Amino acid sequence: MGRTMAPAGPGDILHLIREGAVSTRRDITTATGLSRVTVAQRVDALRGAGLVYESGPDESTGGRRPARLSLNQDHGLILAAVLDTTHAELTASNLANEVIATRHRDINIADGGAAVLDRVMDGFRGLLRQCKRHGSSRVDGVGLSVPGPVDPRTARASQPPLMPGWDDYDVTGHIQRAFDVPVVVENDANATALGEHVSHHRDASPLALIKVSTGIGCGIVVNGCILTGVDGGSGDIGHVRLDGHDDAVCTCGSRGCLAAVASGRAVAARLCGLGRSTSSGSDVRKLLQQGDVEAGQLTREAGRHIGRIASTLVSLINPGVLVITGDLASPALLAGIQESIYELSLPRAVRHLRVTLGGLGESAAQVGLTQMVADKVLDPAAVDAQLGHQQDRRGQPSTRRW
Ligand SMILES: [Zn+2]
Repeated sequence: MGRTMAPAGPGDILHLIREGAVSTRRDITTATGLSRVTVAQRVDALRGAGLVYESGPDESTGGRRPARLSLNQDHGLILAAVLDTTHAELTASNLANEVIATRHRDINIADGGAAVLDRVMDGFRGLLRQCKRHGSSRVDGVGLSVPGPVDPRTARASQPPLMPGWDDYDVTGHIQRAFDVPVVVENDANATALGEHVSHHRDASPLALIKVSTGIGCGIVVNGCILTGVDGGSGDIGHVRLDGHDDAVCTCGSRGCLAAVASGRAVAARLCGLGRSTSSGSDVRKLLQQGDVEAGQLTREAGRHIGRIASTLVSLINPGVLVITGDLASPALLAGIQESIYELSLPRAVRHLRVTLGGLGESAAQVGLTQMVADKVLDPAAVDAQLGHQQDRRGQPSTRRW
């Protein structure tokens, strides 16, 4: 994240280069007010760590064009694992969020944190062997998203209804025993919201995202930052009660929750009652893709229920865009959600609102997660700590990896 320009250590300079705000040593001198000698020292430190490379001067202009500084996107790899209840999608990407290799692992999230993470770490090792063949194997950071709330203070899952055996499990510690690097653990809807934000909706703030798969999740991004809430429960709309649905028992143990009425699991159960063999959000997705009329009708009805809660969300945060993703994301779901939102909201609250299907599909969580890890690895204070640059920084660990 950007900071005011006071300390201007190597980390701040790297941040300016990464943001495209500066590209030459002279730009840095102008932007920071540092002397040419100091700028040279900082740039040398960044080059020595392999974080920045310098190209030119360009001979075709007679050597007059100054050398250009760029972030070395291939400094190291970011490993990301997007966990659903039944599978983990693993990726290795560079620091510019470009995917280099992918891997799929079947999991059962209910096996608990220790067993599932062992399997994911094993998958990461396989992914690294793949990357090694292409020349890169240094890991700069690891990200993991989970289908449940994550406490922002502990980075542990916090009473996740779909994840028995994970409550308060030390996910970061488990990952760091395998890879001793910065780790990000995030709720999947939050990571998905950030992925959509950085890819398609940089100018839309706030951005709200509703993910309708087997459960229902929601992520909110304000000024480029995920709104986590004090316990990581921000946007947890799946367990808001709907009037008149006390017959619907929810996975959380309560009755009448939105997720019990309008999630992929709920729609799958109703289709099952009509004689289909559906049990999950992905089963419903297959029927929607086949143009199944009843699946479309029930999904639209689910959308209307979701839209009732979404209209409250719209009134509370007045988003510029509401993105709909997940297994049930379809024209039918979008139509149902829009019907309720426009019926129940004041014209002013929806004047500039765009309700749209996600642009990244299933890769959105991975994109958001990788972005968060890159931001953490390249955070100015973290970079300074890694380079042993302690000026004006308090309480930063001085363990160096680079
Ligand atoms: Zn519930």
